[in-house]
Amino acid sequence: MKFFKIDTIAKTLLTSIFFMFSLVLIIGGSWWAYKKFEFFNEEKERIQKDYIESQKSLLKEEIKKLSLELNYEKILAQNEIDLNIKHCATEIYDIASILYETYKDKNDINKIKKIILNFLSQKMQNKKIFIFETKNSLNKILFKIPDIPQNIPLSLLKNSKNEYPFANLALFIKEKQRAFYDINLNINGKKLSFRTYNIYFPPLKWNMGCMENKNIIKEKVKKRLINKFATNSHNKFLCNVSLLELYNINGGKNFAKYIIQKNKPQLENKFISDSIKDAKGIQFAKKYLKDLREKKESFFIEHVKTKEGDIASKLIYYKLHPKWNWIIGGTVCLAKIEKSINYQEKLLQDYIIEKLIKFIILLLIALLISFLIAKYFSQKIQNSFNSFNEFFKNAAKTFVRIDLKNFYFKEFKEMAKSANKMIDEYEKAKQELKFSQQYLKLMLDTQDSIVVVTNSHLISANKSFYKFFGFKDFKDFNKKHDCICEFFIDKGDEYITRKIDGEAWFKYVAKHPEKTHKVVIKKDEKEHVFVLTSQKMDYKGEDRYVVVLTDITDVEKQRKKLQLVATTDPLVKIPNRLKFDSVLNKTIDNFNKTGKTFSLIFFDIDHFKSINDTYGHKTGDKILVELAKLVSSFIRKSDTFARWGGEEFAIILPGADIKKAYEIAQKIRESIEKHKFPFEGKVTCSFGVTEARRGDTPNSIVARADKALYEAKERGRNRVIKI
Ligand code: GH3
Ligand code: MG
Ligand code: MG
Repeated sequence: MKFFKIDTIAKTLLTSIFFMFSLVLIIGGSWWAYKKFEFFNEEKERIQKDYIESQKSLLKEEIKKLSLELNYEKILAQNEIDLNIKHCATEIYDIASILYETYKDKNDINKIKKIILNFLSQKMQNKKIFIFETKNSLNKILFKIPDIPQNIPLSLLKNSKNEYPFANLALFIKEKQRAFYDINLNINGKKLSFRTYNIYFPPLKWNMGCMENKNIIKEKVKKRLINKFATNSHNKFLCNVSLLELYNINGGKNFAKYIIQKNKPQLENKFISDSIKDAKGIQFAKKYLKDLREKKESFFIEHVKTKEGDIASKLIYYKLHPKWNWIIGGTVCLAKIEKSINYQEKLLQDYIIEKLIKFIILLLIALLISFLIAKYFSQKIQNSFNSFNEFFKNAAKTFVRIDLKNFYFKEFKEMAKSANKMIDEYEKAKQELKFSQQYLKLMLDTQDSIVVVTNSHLISANKSFYKFFGFKDFKDFNKKHDCICEFFIDKGDEYITRKIDGEAWFKYVAKHPEKTHKVVIKKDEKEHVFVLTSQKMDYKGEDRYVVVLTDITDVEKQRKKLQLVATTDPLVKIPNRLKFDSVLNKTIDNFNKTGKTFSLIFFDIDHFKSINDTYGHKTGDKILVELAKLVSSFIRKSDTFARWGGEEFAIILPGADIKKAYEIAQKIRESIEKHKFPFEGKVTCSFGVTEARRGDTPNSIVARADKALYEAKERGRNRVIKI
């Protein structure tokens, strides 16, 4: 992918910008998502709570309606009873009145009473009628009330407040003549409650009435409610309706009985224990009993096991009807609630998801933008690096200045400026170098001296070199020769040869700059003497030597001439004392270094003074010249025969031991003795011979030879003495 083909720095930058941006977005996004999630949860809880609250109030409302229905039924039943008993009482009164009126004149009062009672007993068999006298004893005239025991006198029947209800009724009815009257009785601890309608029958002072046990109202209502609930399908909100008869509000084993349990008719008329548990093991009866005691109503949740084996919950509302000790209750199955909550949740979830999708799209766009921004800047940096790369690649060859337009960032522009400055400096330096090179070449080429650069082979040379050696250029030279040293000739210690002390000539010369080095070069059969210097230089880690050769052939010749003059005796034309001293010094040095022996002969003409005196000074000179010639014929090339001074001579004999030197001295002495010199007389010489000894100095060896010579003179002259 070309898009990603960028270098490490740009890639790192790209990655880090992208990463930073992503990080910020992810943190921000996470925070946002967290807030949304929190909002979602809060909303969910709120919806659940609100929903349950709304369900509770609806449930309460429904039960209120049921309670109203219950009251309505109660009133209906009560009215029906009231009507019945009133009708019944009126009927018996009317019958009694008619019979009384019919028989009052013909029969006595007791007969009339009998007629009335007989009639009523037959006629009103199914009615709960009661007739008693309103006198103190409250005699029962007719009393067809099964719940009330026959054997107890009415005047003794009490209610739970220890009052006498029938006595009170007797008084009440005398005053009211006709009236409903409620009678409560407590018979052997059993409470009985009756509704009565009474009419006072003044002729007989009877209270005539019909009554109904009040329980019948309850039973009637119960029946009607059972019927109603059984057929009730109009209420879809409630998933169950319950009616319970409460016996003990404090709980216990049989604290209540189901009257109606619409969903589970099998439970109807079954007793309930307060230890009953729901599917989650919660004793829910205890909970609602407590609420009923405290508030006369209760909301609670019962968990039930579904057919699928899950646990579902029901929201139940129980309301106490204290007069009859009934509990009327309704249930909302929470499955319904949950369904509804789920729906609400779904709406919320959809809302959140929509927001999330928007956020993710936004995030992706932001990431893309961040990536593009990062890519843009990275590309700019990459381009800058590429420009630099191109620049450095070409800089060494072309020295093209870098174009500042290529750079986006100030820092890179500054770098480019520096690079351009470098190029400018380099150009300047190059010009200067070129000038210096030309200048140097000119200088070298105009030099008479030969200048070469060598590392054994010839590397470079100036014009004088080519002129001297007759080559076009150094390549031409290298084709034919390996080294200019091929032209060197060995002219003794004084001159440089190819190798000195095992070292290449140019290296040796460079190492000993304190000495003057000379070399003899043979060119076209002519020997040229050069003074040379050599200087080591480093070229890319390789040693190169700049050698300067200055032609001193003429000077050298002149010098040699002068040297010869300076070291040669002008009369006898052999080396003088100066030369002798110089050779002796070197010979002793050599002896000390190598141990190669040498001997020294000193000799002096006997009685020369008298020869001079006798034959004249000129003759003396001639004798000296002749003597030198004669002795020279005995001298080897390696020997040095010198005039020590006056008529004294010395011979240095390298390689000759004392014996050999002695022999030579004898031969010379003999030949001098025999030689015929250009004058009448004879010439003899006395000789002193000595050989070099370890530790000798020029003075010490000269002193020994001189001593030997002195001895020869002492012993009578014309003889050789060795020490
Ligand atoms: P001895 O045997 O003891 O050596 O006696 P001698 O006479 O040779 O004594 P001495 O060596 O002292 O004298 C040297 C003389 O040599 C003195 C000097 O006149 C003479 N002489 C020195 N140089 C020259 C020279 O160049 N030419 C001539 N003609 N005579 C010289
Ligand atoms: Mg002498
Ligand atoms: Mg002498």
